[in-house]
Amino acid sequence: MTTALELLRGCLKPGLTMAALLFGPATLAGWAAADLATPLAAAGWGVLVGVTGLLAHEGAHLWLARRLGGPDAARLRTSWRGLSVDAPGLHPQHSAAVALVGPLAGAAVSVGIAALTPAPVWIATAFAGVHLLNLVPVRRTDGAVALHAGCAGLVRRWDLERAQLETAHKEGATGGQ
Ligand SMILES: [Zn+2]
Repeated sequence: MTTALELLRGCLKPGLTMAALLFGPATLAGWAAADLATPLAAAGWGVLVGVTGLLAHEGAHLWLARRLGGPDAARLRTSWRGLSVDAPGLHPQHSAAVALVGPLAGAAVSVGIAALTPAPVWIATAFAGVHLLNLVPVRRTDGAVALHAGCAGLVRRWDLERAQLETAHKEGATGGQ
């Protein structure tokens, strides 16, 4: 419940930014075309799908990070530009899962809204695409975080296996004497 309230509060700033970015041009376009209803309805669906997808995306990051690492494992950062989840202390494999679950949840919820409501399919597809683009591993996307964490996890496992082999080798050498 605390997580849900935290998310809703965190969505306020980016939600208002999204509303300004969509309703502003929609009003201008509608005024120019002498048809306000169509662009304003599209902007309304855009804000609904956008904010719900954002809640699902960041909510999934936050929920899984806290489930895997404990209640203090993840923190929500909010700004006018968006929301993000910080979970620096997680095990690399857990970090990779936490990074991947956000875009998948955001895309699934965007598609789900189009399936269950009269929301225009192109709007839901566009938002689902934005969530999935986050899986492309460039710069600081979720895909990049997952790839980095996955590699760190592999290196950690190889180090462990090498240490175990070295220990077994030493024990074998001393055991034979
Ligand atoms: Zn994300």
